Amino acid sequence: MKTLKNYINGEWQAPSSDRVEDVINPATGEVIGKIAFSTKEDTERAIDAARQAFDSGVWADATTHERAAVLLKIADLIEAEAEELAKAETIDNGKILTEAEFDVADAATCFRYYAGIIMHPDGETYHVPDNVQAMVVKEPVGVTGLIVPWNFPILMSVWKLAPALAAGNAIVYKPSEVTPMNAQRLFEIFEEAGVPHGVVNMVVGDGPTVGQTISESHEVDMVSFTGSTAVGREIMKAAAGNLKKISLELGGKSPNIVFADADLETAVDYGLFGIFFGSGQVCSAGSRILVEESIYDRYVERFAERAQLIKVGPGLDPTSNMGAIVSEKQLNRILDYIEIGKSEGARLVAGGKRVVDNNLDKGFFIEPTVFADCTPEMRIVREEIFGPVVTIQKFSTEEEAIRLANDTDYGLAGGVFSGDGAKALRVIKKVRAGITWVNDYHPTYVEAPWGGYKQSGIGRSLGKYSLEEFQEVKQINIRLSVEPNGWFPAE
Ligand code: NAD
Repeated sequence: MKTLKNYINGEWQAPSSDRVEDVINPATGEVIGKIAFSTKEDTERAIDAARQAFDSGVWADATTHERAAVLLKIADLIEAEAEELAKAETIDNGKILTEAEFDVADAATCFRYYAGIIMHPDGETYHVPDNVQAMVVKEPVGVTGLIVPWNFPILMSVWKLAPALAAGNAIVYKPSEVTPMNAQRLFEIFEEAGVPHGVVNMVVGDGPTVGQTISESHEVDMVSFTGSTAVGREIMKAAAGNLKKISLELGGKSPNIVFADADLETAVDYGLFGIFFGSGQVCSAGSRILVEESIYDRYVERFAERAQLIKVGPGLDPTSNMGAIVSEKQLNRILDYIEIGKSEGARLVAGGKRVVDNNLDKGFFIEPTVFADCTPEMRIVREEIFGPVVTIQKFSTEEEAIRLANDTDYGLAGGVFSGDGAKALRVIKKVRAGITWVNDYHPTYVEAPWGGYKQSGIGRSLGKYSLEEFQEVKQINIRLSVEPNGWFPAE
């Protein structure tokens, strides 16, 4: 059984602590690997390696051709073993195989995209006064710490690793301790593709030790974090010591607004996809559905009917529509929220229980759960549950829909369903969120920015935006005539 190691300065090293925990397949409860929890010293070794690699210029000063060639090789290698990587992702995380296959394909696309974008011109020149030629150049930020969650283990990692590498940074990366298995293979791929030693380093372990050490270190110039809003806040505090750059992709409680003039079956279909894809463990999940009064009863009835048709089961079983919850801890957290919903008076119209039939009792499965007649003050409406639980609320006017949609501390995503294009655009423009859809929910593209307003984060992943986050911007002013300026007396 594999015990995960750290990858530091091009070497696989066992973490120095004795604390070793099991990694569990959430569909079966079986142990699939072991993770040793690295110490502060292990983490500092990785930071030192990254610092030295960055300062040596081995990667930062490589030409864009050289960097792009390595990124393309990584994409090829990911693609060459896409099937194995997707299967491993399903076993580690619990998601159905089709979802994992999408994640792996997107990971390869992401490396290709950043290999391409760095070949484009990225500087600027200005014809300023004083016979000076001004130019702007982009440079890597330096040593970057990348910390990721468990819900899309490979994809969330690659969304950071690809642009950080493309921009020429050195990296200290920490996978989630809950789903660390594929990270080792990914780093073997980096080695095979020829990323120079010390440029990418991986430290396995927990947040309070490894994550905190990365966030606090004065040798780290930037931390890019995806995870909960609570931990995001801790990272922001830790990063204050050396005022490092931060990029935070945090939680959400996203509204999905359905107007009476929407195609009902389409709106129900995307409503289901919005919340039950990834068993609801998706930051952008449409977890609050808002439905116009005149179609409310029909929508709720059809939604509940279809939620009950979703087959919950192991991700590797091709007949499963929705996979496992990532861990027992997360399962219990979701079940607690279901009890809270009932006690708050929300009407349970589908699901609500752990699934234990058909030998699923060893794994962590929950029925797609639908609460209707929800009101804004309920905890199940306000707090991110991060599971297959949706709340449905009623509205009567466009203004009320917008007000309810924005009645949240979060601002990650949102959707509008309507047959009236002008109204849909009017309303989506009023939704205070960074990722939005009209008559659609969830698809995202590597070209477009990903991130949130309000307490859903700071900064943007993907597209040119993420490359820019991993870059510093420098102005260079060149005087075109070499002569004193005479400001102070010469004699
Ligand atoms: P989490 O915040 O518990 O952990 C995320 C990562 O941070 C893990 O690697 C963890 O070990 C590490 N960590 C924990 N404490 C830390 C600390 N004090 N300092 C530094 N690092 C620390 O989140 P999770 O439970 O793994 O993931 C679920 C959360 O992630 C949800 O809130 C979800 O909305 C969010 N998420 C957001 C996005 C997005 O793009 N906005 C994407 C995926 C997940």
